[in-house]
Amino acid sequence: MTMRAAFLHGRLDVRLEQRQRPQIEHPDEVIVAVAYTGICGSELHMIEGFQLSSSSGGDAPTPAALGHEYAGVVTAVGDAVESFQIGQRVTVAPRGPCHRCDLCHNGGSALCRKTTQRGGSWADLIAAPQKLVHRLPDSVPLAVGAITEPLSASVRILDRAGLRSGMNVCVIGAGPIGLFAALLAKQNGAANLIISDLRPARRALARRMGIPTVVDPAADDLYTVVMDQTQGRGVEVSIEAVGLEPALSQALQVVAIGGTVVWGGVAPAGLAVPISPNDMFMREYSLRTSWGGIELFERTIRLLSVVDWSPAVAEIFPLDQVAEAVEYARTAAAGKVLLQVAGG
Ligand SMILES: [Zn+2]
Ligand SMILES: [Zn+2]
Repeated sequence: MTMRAAFLHGRLDVRLEQRQRPQIEHPDEVIVAVAYTGICGSELHMIEGFQLSSSSGGDAPTPAALGHEYAGVVTAVGDAVESFQIGQRVTVAPRGPCHRCDLCHNGGSALCRKTTQRGGSWADLIAAPQKLVHRLPDSVPLAVGAITEPLSASVRILDRAGLRSGMNVCVIGAGPIGLFAALLAKQNGAANLIISDLRPARRALARRMGIPTVVDPAADDLYTVVMDQTQGRGVEVSIEAVGLEPALSQALQVVAIGGTVVWGGVAPAGLAVPISPNDMFMREYSLRTSWGGIELFERTIRLLSVVDWSPAVAEIFPLDQVAEAVEYARTAAAGKVLLQVAGG
C-alpha cells in the first residue's frame, strides 16, 4: 500500500512521490491521516538552501521529508497506546523534550536540545509517538488545528515578554508568528497595539483580523507612530518576528524605559546587530529571545477556540499542488499557506 508524500531533493526541488505507508513500528505509536498541514518559514528556508545554524544538526539528508505542522485523524494505534483511539481528531508536536538531559532535569525542558524535529506531514499519513499527540476539541476546525505549532511559538513569545493587560505592545513583522503574537496580545488586553510589515498583503490580513494600528514602515516612521500613540513613552512590550535588520534594531528603539524586547524571529547565523550598552543601561530594558513552544501545546490548543483564526488559514492548496503552494508561499502575497491532504 502506498501514499503520497512530498520530498525535497535539492534546492527548490520539491516532488510529490508514492511511498510506502507508515506502519506502527513501536507499541506507543499512533498513525495520523493528515487533513491539513502548514508550510512553515523554516521549510521555505530548507527549500531555498538557507542555513539556519550549525546547531540545526548539519545538512538534512536528501531527499528530506517535509512538513511538521499538521492536524488530522487517528487511523491506527499501537498496543501500548491508551490515550488515543481511531477516529479522534488530533494535532502533533513535531518535537518534545528528551526528559533525560541536564536541561530537562533542571527545569529547562522547554529548551531541551536533545530533540530533533520529526518531518513528513506533507503526506497522506504520518506516524508519531503518543507523547507528542494532542486531542483537538470538536469545535476546532482541522485547518485551524494545523496552526497549533506556529501558534505555540507565539504563545512562548508572549510568555517571554511578560505581557500584562493594559500594556502597550508593538509587533514588528506580520508573518504568521508576528500576527499570531499580536492577536494574542489583543486577547490579553494590550492597550495600544501596533504591528508593522513591509508587505501589503500581510498588513491587509492584520487589519482584517482586527489589529488596531497597522504600519507600513516604508511609508511611515514606526518610531514616530509608536511615540505618538504612547505619549512619547514607547511600548512596554516590543516583539520582533522577522529575524533581520532593520526590524531587530527597531524593536530596541521603540521599547519603553523598563520594558521588554523579545526577538522572536530566526536570524541568519552570521548576522550581528549594534546594541548601545549605555542606552540599554539608561533605559534598563530587558532583551530576551524566544526559541519556540515545544511544551505549550495544551495551552495553545485552548487558544484555538478563543480567537477566530479562520482568516489566517484561508490560503489552502491541495497536496497534489505542493510545488505550486511552495512557489506561492515564497511570494510577498502569501500569509500562512496550508496544504489540504484529506477532506478535513
Ligand atoms: Zn513551524
Ligand atoms: Zn532534554
